[in-house]
Amino acid sequence: MARISIFGMVGLAACSAVLVAGCANGSTDSESAAQSSAASQTATSTAKSTPAPGQLPRITILATGGTIAGKANANSAVGYTAGEATAQDLIDAVPGIDKIAKLDAEQIANIGSQDMNDEVWLTLANRINQIFADDKADGVVVTHGTDTIEETAFFLDHVVASPKPVVLVGSMRPSTALSADGPANLRSAVQVAADADARDRGTMVVLNDTIHGAKDVTKTNTTSVQTFVSPNTGPLGHVDAAAVTFAEPASAHPRLTFPVPGKSPLPQVAIVYSHAGMDATQVNDALGHGAQGIVLAGVGDGNTAKPVVAALSAAAGKGVLVIRSSRVGSGSVVRNAELNDDELGTISALDLNPAKARILTQLLLANGITDKAKVQQDFADC
Ligand code: ASP
Repeated sequence: MARISIFGMVGLAACSAVLVAGCANGSTDSESAAQSSAASQTATSTAKSTPAPGQLPRITILATGGTIAGKANANSAVGYTAGEATAQDLIDAVPGIDKIAKLDAEQIANIGSQDMNDEVWLTLANRINQIFADDKADGVVVTHGTDTIEETAFFLDHVVASPKPVVLVGSMRPSTALSADGPANLRSAVQVAADADARDRGTMVVLNDTIHGAKDVTKTNTTSVQTFVSPNTGPLGHVDAAAVTFAEPASAHPRLTFPVPGKSPLPQVAIVYSHAGMDATQVNDALGHGAQGIVLAGVGDGNTAKPVVAALSAAAGKGVLVIRSSRVGSGSVVRNAELNDDELGTISALDLNPAKARILTQLLLANGITDKAKVQQDFADC
C-alpha cells in the first residue's frame, strides 16, 4: 500500500507495475509468475509454507563472484582478486551447511560487483523467476560482491514477485583471508532463505549476522565487516547459529513489481553528483549521451546550484525523467520543499538513494511509465 499519495488522483489500475505481497492465497508460483507477467493483480498473502517433517528446505545458490569468491593474489600483501572461487568452493567451505538445507548451486557469473551489469541482472532475474515458477526451490541465495549488492538486491526486489525469499550475501574479506567472513555469512544467508518467516519479505541482504531489506540497505564503510546499515528503517532482523529472528512480522504492504525487462541494456539513466561550485556540465554531458533519465545526487534535501536546477528543469520540460535524490545517505527528499518540483517538473526520490533511484527510473522507463504523477506515486510505493 502506498505510504503517501502525492497526487491523489493516480489510478493504480492503470499501472503496468504490480503491487505484490507474495502469491494470492492458495496460488502456485507458476500462477504467481503468470500474474506478474499479466501485470494486473494486487496479491496479499502471508501464508507460510514449511517443508514436510523430515525434509530440509530446498535452497538454490546462484553465484556471481565478488570478494566472497576472492582469493589472495601474489602481487601484494593486501590485494586479492574477486570472483575466483566457484559456487561449490563456497559451499565446501561451510561445514554443516548441508544440515540446514538441501542445496543446489549454479554459477551465473564470476565477476567483481563493480562490473555488475544489466545483462547479469536480467539473467539472474529470469533464472530466479524460473526456479520459483517450476517450484525447484523454497528460497534462493545469491552470492555477490558487496560494492553493488544493494543495487542488485533492489533490482531483484522489483522484478521477482514470488513470496519465496531471495537472499543476497557477500563478504568483506576474501576466502583466503585470516578470519574470512564469507563462510559464516553464507551459512547465515542459507539459514535465512530456509526460514519459513523469511517469506513475503522480498529480497534481502545478509552480512555480519544482520538481515537487511533491499530498499534501505546500503554500504557505509570501505573495508569494515560491519559496513551494511539500513539508515532509515533499521535492519529487518538478525541471525545467529541457532536462530533467525525478524523484528516484525512480514509486512502486509504489497511490493511494487514489474515484468523483467526484455532486453539489456536498460534505459540510460545518469547520476549527476552535486558539489560546491557546480555548473551544468554534467547534466549537459548526460543529455548529450542520450540519457532518458537523470538522477540528481543532490546536496542536503536534494538541492543543487542554480545553473544545474535550470538545466534539469529544461531537461524535464523536454520529457527527460528528472529525479531529485540526495548524496547525504539517509533521510527522505521532501517534495516541493527546498525546490518546487511542481514548477520544475521534477520527481522526488523520497527515501531512495541515488543508485536505487536510478534503477527504479530504469524499470519505469523500460515499462513505458513516464507520466510524472504516476512516476512520483511509484517512488512512494516502492
Ligand atoms: N570489489 C568487490 C566486489 O564488490 C568488493 C566486495 O565484494 O566486497 O565484488
